[in-house]
Amino acid sequence: MEFSKRQEAILEIVKKQGPITGEQIAEKLSLTRATLRPDMAILTMSGVIGARPRVGYYFSGKTPNRIITERLHKVKVGEIKSLPVVVGEKCAVYDAVVTMFTEDVGTLFVVSEGGLLEGVVSRKDLLKTTLGGHDIHKLPVGVIMTRMPNIIYTDLDESVWSAAKKLLTREVDAMPVVRLKEDSGGRQGMEVVGRLSKTNITRFFVELGEEG
Ligand code: ADP
Repeated sequence: MEFSKRQEAILEIVKKQGPITGEQIAEKLSLTRATLRPDMAILTMSGVIGARPRVGYYFSGKTPNRIITERLHKVKVGEIKSLPVVVGEKCAVYDAVVTMFTEDVGTLFVVSEGGLLEGVVSRKDLLKTTLGGHDIHKLPVGVIMTRMPNIIYTDLDESVWSAAKKLLTREVDAMPVVRLKEDSGGRQGMEVVGRLSKTNITRFFVELGEEG
């Protein structure tokens, strides 16, 4: 976050003399309050200074880096996730490839008839099988998928930072966003409520850079 020379001057005044009113700051800089208004808005929006009615502006003690860190931990997976694309275990490899193209995703989640998460199929899983000379019209994805309990997943309340770290350290492109569920047969498992991919993280990163 870069501030203009005038914003830096305001920040210095607030740091040394806060809490201080807008009028007093304007006086010290020999400017009008109206001229300063956009600068004050930027400084308060960035979180570097705070404003309290009848008290004035004060230094929040937060550096721009700390503010970005706080935001990364505050935003939850539920706020940036996409819709999941799921197939059944009996879905043929051929149909899974077609689904990947039509839905424009790189990872498919495989669910049981009761809607519980069973596995994950990635692009390379499908490529490998296709190159392996199998009859991809017959072979079901249930045979080639990575299955539970080896699935790396996230939930709606996990922080974006922690989920992004998981994608990186576990070297996967996407994770199912899950919620605990019991199917009609009383079997406990996980329902897929979303998809979190590297694209979601990249989009969030770009939006973060555009703020303010
Ligand atoms: P790609 O195969 O397109 O490079 P990934 O890196 O995501 O995509 O997948 C690598 C391997 O990890 C594949 O075998 C896939 O089945 C598996 N995989 C993908 N996502 C997950 C996940 N969330 N949890 C567990 N395994 C996964």
